[in-house]
Order: sequence, then C-alpha cells, then structure tokens
Amino acid sequence: MAAAGPARQSLIRRFVLIAAAALVLVLGWRAWQGRAIERPGPNQPVVMTTPWGQQIVPTVDTAAELAAWRALRPGQDWAQGQAAQEQVRRDYGAGRLQLSRTPFVLAEGVWAIGPHNTDQQIYLIDTGAGLVLVDPSLDAFQGEVLAQLAGLGFRPEQVRWVVLTHCHSDHAQSCRQWQERGAEVIVGAGDAPELAACSDVVAKDFDPRGKGRCTPCMADRKVADGDILRLGNLALHAIASPGHTPGSTSFAFQRGGKWLLLSGDIALHNGRHAWMGGTKADWNQYLASLGKLAGWSVDGRTVRFDLLLPGHGTIDLTDGHRSVEQTKRLVQEIVTRRAGGERVMWLDAYPFAWRQFDR
Ligand SMILES: [Zn+2]
Repeated sequence: MAAAGPARQSLIRRFVLIAAAALVLVLGWRAWQGRAIERPGPNQPVVMTTPWGQQIVPTVDTAAELAAWRALRPGQDWAQGQAAQEQVRRDYGAGRLQLSRTPFVLAEGVWAIGPHNTDQQIYLIDTGAGLVLVDPSLDAFQGEVLAQLAGLGFRPEQVRWVVLTHCHSDHAQSCRQWQERGAEVIVGAGDAPELAACSDVVAKDFDPRGKGRCTPCMADRKVADGDILRLGNLALHAIASPGHTPGSTSFAFQRGGKWLLLSGDIALHNGRHAWMGGTKADWNQYLASLGKLAGWSVDGRTVRFDLLLPGHGTIDLTDGHRSVEQTKRLVQEIVTRRAGGERVMWLDAYPFAWRQFDR
C-alpha cells in the first residue's frame, strides 16, 4: 500500500501536465485563428488578409468565400467548401464574427458610410474645402448617412459635391435631395440625360417590375473621359467606363502616396462583375472599359491602383489593381462564351478565381 501514494502523485502530475499542454494548445489555436482579423479601433475597418496576401474589408459573403478557399485543397470542387461558408454565416449571425460597421476610415479623409449591413457602398471624401459624397444611393438610406455625417463632426451643408459613378437608382436615387441641400451633382455625360429623364435605364433597370422610384435630377456638371475635377485639395480623374450604363465613369485619385479607384459597378473585389441585364448594357463596351482601367496611365506611366472602392461589396485596401485585372479576365470569359452562342449573363467571381488557381 505504501507504493500507492507516489503512484497517485505521479498520475496527478501527469494529468496536470496534460491539462496544461491542452490549455496551451487551445489558447494557441484561438490566437492563430484570430490573427487574420485585427481588432478595430473607433471608425477603423475590420481587415482580413486573403490567401494571396491582399488586405481587404470584407462583407460576410467574402468572409464566407475566403473560409471556403482556405478549407479547399487543390483539385477539389468549389462546392465542397459549402460547409465552411455556412459556418462563417452562422458565426456572423451569432455575433461570433465581427465585421466592419460604418462609418470607417479607408485613407486620410476618406470614409465608407451608410447602412452597415447592406452590399451597397457609399463613400465620403474630405477635400479641405467641402465634402464629396460618392454614390449616395437610395432615399431610404439618407437618415443613416446624415446621422453618420453628424457623428464624424460634419454638417449636411458641407457636402458640396455629389459624384455619381452611374445613374442606377441604387447609386443615384437620393442625388436630388443632396442637390436641394446645395450640393453640385456630377455624373458621366452619357448618364446625365438618363438621370434627368428618369429613363428606363435609371428606374426600370433597378426594379424590373417598374416599382423603382426615381426623382429626376439635372446634373450640374457632366464629365467626359480624361477630365480632372479639382474639388478642394482633391484631383479626381474621370475615366469613362461605359458598358454597364452608357455614362458609367470610374474616378481615380491619390491620398498619402496611394492611388484609389472609385469603380462603381465596373470592377469589384476579386473579379465580381456588373449586372448586365440593363436596357443599354453592352458587353463589348464593358470589356473595353476594363481593359482601359487595367492599363490606365498618368504622364505615360501605368497606374497600379492600391485601394479599390467599388459600388458594392468588399473593399480592397491593397493591390486593388488585381481586382480590376480579375474582373477583366472574368468578363473576357463571358464575352468569349457569348460569342460562341452561350447565353451566359453571370459568373461568380470566387469559384472562377478558384478554378484558375486550381489549373
Ligand atoms: Zn449599376
């Protein structure tokens, strides 16, 4: 019986050691899992890093797609990442996954604002001599936009310019009310008549059942390709990008030595492309616009965009140019397939990118 004491003590020691090792493993695992997300401060975005090293501000859709990407092994089909996607959506729904809440800072004096749980992106730029509101979106969102402006310490009258990437109602519906508050409305020349007339391109495209509400809005300034808008300390380069609508325009500018591209519905994160079922949509024009953006240059030097600020979904904080090139690749694939007689109108960006990666 005398031997039982030390034997029990040795068992207890072993148990304590195993328990300690397990604790270290669990804590280590949790720390490793959490490393993809930097905990944000006030008005700071939740940033994730993609497997290809790009820093992004993801929507829940992109967070789910990234989880699928990480879960998949080469040779597997995209659909096999479904469980990983569902887990992310469950985590988000249960509050275990924190994603960005608007407003958040993208660069010095540049914010994403508006409702935080929609796919729509609205941007605010401080020019030092007034604010620019980019694609203020639906009337229904303006309560939120006004509240967030106030939260950032701005008054609505400080919005001197409303810049529209195109005339679709989900981007432009509220431009008239901003005009009535004193802002100047700026839009691509090709979309100005659509906006003024509440044409089918504006109203019907947004809601095919004809229920889309539209307030006619006469643009104060129509921009053409190559125009440089001097708004306070901001030099906004207009790049005509027709195809999605006749007057779709992307806008490039610099902040802190970086190039930012406001790409509307033209180029989106990781190759997501525009909806092309619109009244005046043109696939060939769209592809040409993407080629133009990918090769866009200033003073003879091709600009590689750092940040991509699209009209929908995930924002690229680094290597935004990659998304422009990826959208061009994807639209090229659609145009080629359509030329071969296929009636394809949509390709999902992440599965498309996965198949390329897998090749
Ligand atoms: Zn659109």
